[in-house]
Amino acid sequence: MLHKNFKNIDKVTFGRGCFAQLEETVEPVRKLNNQYFVYIVDNYFKGKSLSNRLQNKPEDLIYYIDVDPHEPTTEQIDTLRDEILASKGLPSGVIGIGGGSIMDIAKALSLMLTNEGSSTLYQGLNLIKKEGVYHLGVPTISGTGAEVSMTAVLTGPQKKLGLKCDWTPFNQLLLDPELIASVPTDWWFYTGMDTYIHSIEAENGMYNNAFSLAFGEQSLQLCREVYLGDKAGRSAENDDKLMVASYMGGLSLSYSEVGVCHALSYGLSKILEYRHCYANCVAFQHLGDIYKKGHGEFMDMIKKHNIILPQNLSKDWSEETITAMAQVSYNLTHMWNHAFGLDWKSKIDLEYMKDLFRRM
Ligand code: NAD
Ligand code: ZN
Repeated sequence: MLHKNFKNIDKVTFGRGCFAQLEETVEPVRKLNNQYFVYIVDNYFKGKSLSNRLQNKPEDLIYYIDVDPHEPTTEQIDTLRDEILASKGLPSGVIGIGGGSIMDIAKALSLMLTNEGSSTLYQGLNLIKKEGVYHLGVPTISGTGAEVSMTAVLTGPQKKLGLKCDWTPFNQLLLDPELIASVPTDWWFYTGMDTYIHSIEAENGMYNNAFSLAFGEQSLQLCREVYLGDKAGRSAENDDKLMVASYMGGLSLSYSEVGVCHALSYGLSKILEYRHCYANCVAFQHLGDIYKKGHGEFMDMIKKHNIILPQNLSKDWSEETITAMAQVSYNLTHMWNHAFGLDWKSKIDLEYMKDLFRRM
């Protein structure tokens, strides 16, 4: 078996209020290229106090991006790249401030500023030809692990697939738990559950190993404290923990693999445009027979936080829709390898996957 060899984040700052250190952190980088930074900021922060704390210089470009209409697309990245290069040339770096969507946009943009042609050409592993520009991430919602992962997931005309290579991970992270306090409670739950599910799936499959497990177990423990413990719920202390859980959950899956829930979730996202973290919750509630250990706890968390997930969705899905979603899932070979072993095709088939969608 080929053992995974991942490029990690170069530098990480963690702590309440560390966002204030942004300027001093990027100052040495400002002398590179055309000596200005591109800020990619979640539109939620436009006009909010954070927008007055960006520490930008007059020469910097700031883009506020609304991530709600759709997950990041190849077309969106190409357009942004062309516009930036045409107006000011190559920037010193890209600073992404927002959730998983903004993390992926910042990572992809950094790569596409130096690689010619459309980002669709580079969806996959190690297809990027040149190192991107410096990029710094400031997550404002925790759970996806996009802040730490080696991929920038983009939806293109053909596929939903990441730009994945050694130059994708951020050069620097500022992890400031103060920034996640304003996340709406439903997103706080769904996105937090993404990290919980990452760790459960990473532990339950053939790629599990002591390195991944150590990150996964710590992430699960933090999730339990945040969503189930005596002091569960929204608090500064729990925001600190959730931000670390997201990071560790991301590392857990990087060094192992996700499984059945994510395979189904990709089907829901690609065909019905369900958002990643919500789709995982919709699927995971029905996977008690596959993930015995995590499922009970997940259902307890749903109950404790009065989360209502939709039921009987499949009665409104046509056979074509179910087949299309199952086909998307079926093609995620690495996830099925992990969950059921390299001989998974002798154990399960497309019909089995269709039945998993029919449970929803
Ligand atoms: P998101 O970035 O899509 O944001 C969700 C919502 O929260 C948006 O409405 C946003 O405006 C809002 N928001 C963000 N921060 C906020 C704050 N501090 N206060 C109030 N509102 C805030 O959410 P997400 O769940 O973090 O990211 C989902 C995306 O991440 C998907 O596109 C998915 O494909 C991607 N993803 C990437 C990876 C990876 O490894 N690269 C892994 C998992 C998911
Ligand atoms: Zn996920």
